[in-house]
Amino acid sequence: MLVAEASAQVGPQAAPPARKRVTRAEYVIDCNEQVNPDVNVIRFVPTTGQMFDFEPGQFVSISAVKPDGKKIARDYSIYSPPSFRQGFELCVKRVEGGFMSNYLCDLKKGDKINAIGPMGGFVLRRPLPPELFFVSTGTGVAPFRAMLETLLEQGEKNTHIYLIFGTRHPEDIINRSFFEGIEKQHPNFHYLPTLSRAEDSWTGHRGHVQETLSKYLKDPSKKDIYICGLQIMVDQVKDMAVASGVPATSIYYERYD
Ligand SMILES: Cc1cc2nc3c(=O)[nH]c(=O)nc-3n(C[C@H](O)[C@H](O)[C@H](O)COP(=O)(O)OP(=O)(O)OC[C@H]3O[C@@H](n4cnc5c(N)ncnc54)[C@H](O)[C@@H]3O)c2cc1C
Repeated sequence: MLVAEASAQVGPQAAPPARKRVTRAEYVIDCNEQVNPDVNVIRFVPTTGQMFDFEPGQFVSISAVKPDGKKIARDYSIYSPPSFRQGFELCVKRVEGGFMSNYLCDLKKGDKINAIGPMGGFVLRRPLPPELFFVSTGTGVAPFRAMLETLLEQGEKNTHIYLIFGTRHPEDIINRSFFEGIEKQHPNFHYLPTLSRAEDSWTGHRGHVQETLSKYLKDPSKKDIYICGLQIMVDQVKDMAVASGVPATSIYYERYD
């Protein structure tokens, strides 16, 4: 039996899930790169050669058999944009004592897994507002990388896009140089890594993601806020945004636990 122990939570104004064909298929690992001490970016290529269509922000469900014979499934947001047609990438954090996250991070080039996707309704709402905030901690950044690249590929220039990424130390920042490179090329993209335990040498934002967000909430009515990560962070950011005057209908979220 397939055991899915977590499910996506989507904000109050969720549009119906994007209607993309859901496919169950086998994938081969093309590469598996450790990008910081406990996060890997893993690329999966369909053995059929046919990559499914999806909306940035959607996720896949991966199944595997544990050593005790029990089959489990876990969900992972797609990190690569839909324009990448060879397959899909995931950004996975090793969870201490967890099976699936460590299983995925230990996969080698050529290993095979089964996945079902795309799933979920955590997708961009149109029309875009003047300011779009993506707020994440840890691997909650995954759907935002896919959304950001898609918007920029589509030539989006009118909306200012803010990515607030929270973690503890500089070495925990996921693909920092990648996001910094995009910020240099696109004046409407603002990358705001925020560290809760930064050393004195850190010149960027400090504290928690909601503190950085609060600095940018001058006109709450012109913003959409997307939040992704663990429940405690999602709830804190949501509560702070609503208390600051952001309409609840402009807040969308996906919880990982
Ligand atoms: C819609 C959706 C999308 C997701 N996308 C991602 C993703 O892109 N990348 C990713 O790494 N995880 C993602 N997750 C979490 C993922 O599904 C698993 O829960 C996680 O990998 C732990 O699985 P496990 O079998 O290793 O451990 P389990 O034994 O299932 O989990 C142990 C505990 O780990 C905690 N946990 C779950 N996810 C995380 C996390 N990311 N960081 C810290 N603690 C966590 C939970 O509190 C859970 O109770 C997503 C979850 C959902 C519902």
